[in-house]
Amino acid sequence: MTTIAVIGTGNMGAPMARNLARGGFKVKAYDLVAEKTQALVDDGIVACDSHAEAITDSQIVITMLPSELEVRDVVCGPVFGQASSGCIVIDSSTINLDDARNLHQQCRERGLRFLDAPVSGGTMGAASGNLTFMVGGEADTLASARPVFEPMAKNIIHCGGAGMGQATKMCNNLMLGIQMASVAEAFNLAKRVGLDEGKLFEVAGQSSGNCAAMNVFCPVPGLVDSAPSSHGYRPGFTAELMLKDMNLAIAAAARQALELRTGETARTFYQQMVDNGEAAIDFSSIYRLLQQPG
Ligand code: NAD
Repeated sequence: MTTIAVIGTGNMGAPMARNLARGGFKVKAYDLVAEKTQALVDDGIVACDSHAEAITDSQIVITMLPSELEVRDVVCGPVFGQASSGCIVIDSSTINLDDARNLHQQCRERGLRFLDAPVSGGTMGAASGNLTFMVGGEADTLASARPVFEPMAKNIIHCGGAGMGQATKMCNNLMLGIQMASVAEAFNLAKRVGLDEGKLFEVAGQSSGNCAAMNVFCPVPGLVDSAPSSHGYRPGFTAELMLKDMNLAIAAAARQALELRTGETARTFYQQMVDNGEAAIDFSSIYRLLQQPG
């Protein structure tokens, strides 16, 4: 039986680990916060006390961590120390392009295979096994790892060589971050002019305003039952993570002398949420921020 180490069992990593266990894999999980792996034990997952315990004897290591800082620490530390030759390291965190490319190179030099495989679909997609994986790396490494992705995935798309999964994710989330600002503004305007928000939702859902920011992550409470806004804006996808993604896109664009003018504007809203102490609130709460004068 293939053994998979899942490092980082937060909002995304925990449901992904559950689906891997349901898919018939032996799953060993480690998170800095022990309660998060203990909560997975009833799902047949082995809660480990260290990175090393999870990684040793695993054929696959999946990292689902906040940023490139943690991914670099884990891959260049315990993974390089404990992973056996031929192990496939799959990083599904959202990290910057340069770090992803460097990790491919460094893994190759140590006889390990690496895939950058960030995801779209949020915590709802993670829970239902309907994530879209955007994969960068060697096609044959993806072919070997494909059965591991399957219990977690609706789509597994090979986007190109090293780093191209992260490049795809960066562009996708730039769109999402901007879209959420536009949806929030439109629904705030609807309310001000006396239009029932449910009616706008019904019409826009079948018109040109339709997008995931509205029909999946709808920022208006009560219109989409599963959306974080309907649960007190509990994440979901935090404002802090969206700010990180906007910054990744803006920094990558700047290196290419490209200005992301709309992205820059949307970025300031997520920055304000973080500055207002709302870093850990779902990013769709931008709807409430935009009700206030700027
Ligand atoms: P999270 O903060 O809920 O989970 C991250 C987990 O990593 C935490 O439980 C934390 O304790 C753990 N951790 C941190 N450093 C560690 C280390 N050195 N070793 C072991 N564990 C460590 O974040 P999340 O929402 O699960 O997101 C994870 C990644 O997925 C991020 O890169 C994010 O951008 C990306 N992502 C999130 C979503 C979403 O909707 N939440 C969607 C797509 C992509």
